Formats: sequence, C-alpha cells, structure tokens
Amino acid sequence: MTDDKNVQEIFIGRNPLLITNVKYQGKNVDIFLDGTGTISAIGEGIRSRHKGEADYIIDGDGAIALSGLVNTHTHAGMSLLRGYADDMVLQDWLAQKIWPLEAHLTGQDVYWGTKLSCLEMIRTGTTAFNDMYFFMEDAARAVDEAGIRAMLCYGFIDLNSDEKRENECRATERLVGHIRSMNNPRIQAAAGPHAIYTVSPAGLKWCAEYAAEQNIGIHIHLSETEHEVNECVEQYGKRPVAHLDDCGILTPRTVAAHGCWLDENECSVLARRGVSVAHNPVSNMKLATNRAMPWHWLTGAGVTV
Ligand SMILES: [Zn+2]
Repeated sequence: MTDDKNVQEIFIGRNPLLITNVKYQGKNVDIFLDGTGTISAIGEGIRSRHKGEADYIIDGDGAIALSGLVNTHTHAGMSLLRGYADDMVLQDWLAQKIWPLEAHLTGQDVYWGTKLSCLEMIRTGTTAFNDMYFFMEDAARAVDEAGIRAMLCYGFIDLNSDEKRENECRATERLVGHIRSMNNPRIQAAAGPHAIYTVSPAGLKWCAEYAAEQNIGIHIHLSETEHEVNECVEQYGKRPVAHLDDCGILTPRTVAAHGCWLDENECSVLARRGVSVAHNPVSNMKLATNRAMPWHWLTGAGVTV
C-alpha cells in the first residue's frame, strides 16, 4: 500500500503524504497532507499536482476518509494487563488484582503498554485519547513517538492520607510541567483525581483549584458503581455529583467517566456545570456495573456525551 517504505514512519506526520481515490462526502477524491501533517489540498484530481511532493502514496480505493475517532476515557498503559483478571466486580478487581499488580509496574512497562494502545488506536481510526494512569512521563513519550493526540493526567489517589496527598499534588505538578516542556501541540495535560472513593475532599479541592489556575482539563471517574453512590451518601450525606460540585470539580473542562448510576437530577446538574460524560459500555459490561449510563437523561438535559 505504501510502496516498500515502513508504514510506521507515516504516523510521525513529518512526511508529505498523498492519499488517492478515497471516498469523501460521496465523491472519490485525493488528499494531500504536507510535512506538518496538515491537509493542504483535497479534491478530485489533486494527485497530478502533488504527486512529486509526496514521500508516500496510499491507494485509498475502496476506503472512506473521515475525521479521527476520540476515545474519551482510557488507561492506555493497562493494555499489558489485558485478560489478567476477569469476571469480577470493580472493587474486587481493583483491590484484589489490579492495584497489587500495578504496584510492580515500571515506567518502561507503562511506556510499552501505552505504545501498544497507541498502535491499536491508530490502526482502528482513533486519533486522540483522554488518558489517566501513572508513570505518565513515559506514557507521554509513547504518545510523542506514535504521532497520535492525547490529553494525559496523573491518576491522583490519596486515600485520605495527608502524606499521600502531598505526593500526589507534586506528581500532578511535575507531569503538567513535563508536558509543557515537551512543547508538543498534540499532547495536553489534565488533572486526574481518580474518583470520590480514592480521593479525599481536600485532594479533590486541590485538583479543582490547580486545574483552574493552570487552565487545564479535569478527568475523573463518576458514579461507576452503585456501591460508590451508596458509600458517598453514607460518608458525606449527599450523592456523588453534589459532593464533586461542593469540591469545585464540575466545570466545562471536566470529563467524567462512566456515570452509570447517576440519577435524573444529577444529570441536570452536570448539564448546568458544562461537564462532559464519557460513555464506557465495554468496561461497564466487563466489570458488571449492572446499569447502563442514562443516556436519555444526560442528553435530554444537554450534557455532551
Ligand atoms: Zn477508568
């Protein structure tokens, strides 16, 4: 398809690329991308004008051209853990299997796991993803090399410990500084308070204030399980959305993942605050979440899903 050159090199986006005879908006067109990865020409018969400039030519016959897909909630480094623990509910899966294993992961592991995820995403049309994990400097290196776009956050987990919270704040600041220093327009940083059951109110408030001050996104898990909702009501006397709202987490820069156990009123609050919700049906089935995200309430209230 690409003559005898290495396909992977194309993904770096540093070589002019011509795609011929591809279906776009009902017509067969040619698309020319310049050396910055920007589409600089699109239309019928473009190939004769740009053939000489292109380092690579892809025959697009039988294929369609469309915008890249965006995966709004990932832990890309976890591709290495795929199949390690199945048929368990979230809390047992995390506490008994995943967290003990993750304690042994290294930055190199996260680099390779993220790189594998990037290749799988590129192969199936995903060009951007919203990722939360740790060793994120290594994840950023994988993203940089893969040529894909990502918003990366450090998964902030303080488990109500002051000492842990200090570490998590510094780790978040380090990642944001590191990503800025990479100066790669395809990679952005976000704050990543993991969830209400792993982050103290003080930790949530710190993330909210820091994200506002830095003008960066917030990535969090929200009402993934019924257990999370019940525990929140028991502990704080309010449901998760009210709790997060009191901590300042609900903003137009916030992406909340799962949202399976939201009630109708919570969906309206999310809409008013401009929060976007990530729909994760495969994860919800894997971890037996036992309720689908209430898409009709969310979209009815005007939330971007
Ligand atoms: Zn998640």
